[in-house]
Amino acid sequence: MFNLVLFGPPGSGKGTQATNLIEKYKLVHLSTGDLLRNEIANKTPLGLEAKKIMDEGQLVPDEVVIGIIDNCLEKNALAQGFLFDGFPRTLNQAKALDKLLELKKTQIDLVLALQVNEEELVRRLLERGKTSGRSDDTSEEVIRKRFQVYSNDTEPVAQHYKEADKFKAIPGEGSIDDIFARLSAAIDDYKSEQ
Ligand code: AMP
Repeated sequence: MFNLVLFGPPGSGKGTQATNLIEKYKLVHLSTGDLLRNEIANKTPLGLEAKKIMDEGQLVPDEVVIGIIDNCLEKNALAQGFLFDGFPRTLNQAKALDKLLELKKTQIDLVLALQVNEEELVRRLLERGKTSGRSDDTSEEVIRKRFQVYSNDTEPVAQHYKEADKFKAIPGEGSIDDIFARLSAAIDDYKSEQ
């Protein structure tokens, strides 16, 4: 099994790169943002609860997203590996993920963190907001709030994986193809060392 975390702030290109990576490496894509938006689209009680929080740029409670991930891991028991996108976003989530994977006799192999400067991130998110239909992408105030949440709650997750020697920073600016080549090279390097 090969389990990858694609890490980085909102707008760093995780979703775009995930689409290509899951195809190349035959991974199951687990994006908590997509899964939550799916709940919203289906108007489930969880979706209605999550929408308010997401519209404010805050994080949905840990137990909710951990439950969603647990469910997806169960449903995809035969997967060759997972690509986690937008999860884990807190230290609690990272520790819960370690435990869930340990129960399945597997682990996170690699965390690739896309690095993009903040002004470029805001520009990309506002651009995406014109067509994505995502209400959290249209207001610069909500975008700035999401960065604040990222630096307070999510950046400590990087340290968790640095300590486990699984973390690698990848420059996230340039063409989509160039960034994909950098990510692929990091994965291939890792695999060739195993
Ligand atoms: P994303 O599509 O990853 O940018 O996520 C959009 C929004 O969904 C975030 O701003 C959060 O409100 C919520 N969300 C997604 N993933 C998580 C997570 N792992 N933990 C908490 N909230 C999340």
